[in-house]
Amino acid sequence: MALIVQKYGGTSVGSPERIKNVAKRVSSWQAKGHQVVVVVSAMSGETNRLIALAKEVQAHPDSRELDVIASTGEQVTIGLLSMALMEIGVKARSYTGGQVRILTDSAFTKARIVGIDEGNIKHDLDNGSVVVVAGFQGVDAAGNITTLGRGGSDTSAVAIAAALKADECQIYTDVDGVYTTDPRIVPEARRLETVTFEEMLEMASLGSKVLQIRSVEFAGKYKVKLRVLSSLEELGQEGPGTLITFEEDIKMEQPIISGIAFNRDEAKLTVLGVPDRPGIAYQILGPVAESNIDVDMIIQNVGHDGSTDFSFTVPRGEYAKATAILAQVKGHIGAREITGDNKIAKVSVVGVGMRSHVGIASKMFRTLAEEGINIQMISTSEIKISVVIDEKYLELAVRVLHKAFELDQVPA
Ligand code: ASP
Ligand code: MG
Repeated sequence: MALIVQKYGGTSVGSPERIKNVAKRVSSWQAKGHQVVVVVSAMSGETNRLIALAKEVQAHPDSRELDVIASTGEQVTIGLLSMALMEIGVKARSYTGGQVRILTDSAFTKARIVGIDEGNIKHDLDNGSVVVVAGFQGVDAAGNITTLGRGGSDTSAVAIAAALKADECQIYTDVDGVYTTDPRIVPEARRLETVTFEEMLEMASLGSKVLQIRSVEFAGKYKVKLRVLSSLEELGQEGPGTLITFEEDIKMEQPIISGIAFNRDEAKLTVLGVPDRPGIAYQILGPVAESNIDVDMIIQNVGHDGSTDFSFTVPRGEYAKATAILAQVKGHIGAREITGDNKIAKVSVVGVGMRSHVGIASKMFRTLAEEGINIQMISTSEIKISVVIDEKYLELAVRVLHKAFELDQVPA
C-alpha cells in the first residue's frame, strides 16, 4: 500500500463529465489498496473568470479581497469531486486550504506555504476516505485566505505530499508526460520515462509549461517524487507518464542529453562603447534590476582601447522599459550607443550527462553552423548550453538539434 497525492488541473476537471472520470480514476487507485489525497484546480477558465469579475468592480483589485474571490473556484471543484466519489461508492471528504490549515505567509496573490497541519488528512485516510483538498490556496496566521500565484495547485500538491511523506505525487494534466522537446515543433519528440529535477527545472525555466516551476523546486528540496501523467487517457490504458526524480534513483543508463528547450520570450540589449573600468556592469544593470526586470544572459566583450561592449537579455515584455532605462543612463556611463533586438530566441540543450561528457557544445555549435544559423550569445551551466539566435530560425534550430543529439531514438 502506498500513499499517493494526485493533482488534477483545470482541464481535467473542466466539466461534470470530466469530474466523474476523475472520480473513477481516483477510485481505481484506492481499489488497488492505496491511500489517496486529491488536490484539484478550479474548473478550466474559472480563475480567469473570477479575476475578470473582480476587475469589473475594482480596476486594481484589493489583493486581500481578490484572494477571497479567486480561491472560490477550487472550493467548487472539491465539493463536486467529493460528491462524484460518493456517487460511485467511495468515501470522500473535501477540505479548503484553510480547513486543512495550509499555513502561508500574508503575501496575497503570491503567498508561500510555511506549514501544513496534516492531522485531519491523516485521520480521514486512516478511516478509508479519499481526501480532496483545494489547491492554490491557504490561510495566513491571522486567518486571511491567501492564494499561491497562478498555477499554484501544483505547489499545493507537492507541499501536501511532502508533509504526508507520500510515496509519490502524481500531477495529472492534458499531456501524457514530459517530452524531449515540443512535439508541435518536432513530431518525433519522445516522452521521457524519467528526468531529473535539475533537468526539469532548466526545462521549465525555459518555457516548458508542464509544471509550475515553484512546484518542481519544492519537490526537489523536499525529496518528493513527482510524476506527470495524462488524465485524458482511457481508464486502464494509461501510460506511465514521466517520473521526475533524483539522478541516483535512475537505474537505467541516462542519455547524455535529455531535451531541447527553447524560449521565444526574449529580447537583447547592447550597450556599445562603454569605458572599460570597475563598476560599469553595476551601473548598467543596477537600474535595470531596481525596476524589477529579470536579466538572464549577460556578455561583456574583451575591452580594447579602454572601452568595451555589454549585452544582456530580458523578457520580451520588458524590452521597452529596459531600453528606456538605458537611454537614461547612457550619458552618465559614457556609452557610445544603445542597440537592441526583440526578435531573438533562446535554444538550449539540457542534460545531466554533460557533466561527464565532453564535446556537447562543439556538437551543438557545429549543428547550427551547418544550417547557417548565427549564434549571437552563448551561456552555459553545468547541465545546459544555451544560445541566442534570430527568432526566425528557432524551429529549424530545435529540429536539427533534436536530430543531432538523437533524441528521436529510443535509448538502447
Ligand atoms: N486555478 C488556479 C489558476 O488557474 C491554480 C491552478 O490552476 O493551479 O492559476
Ligand atoms: Mg494549472
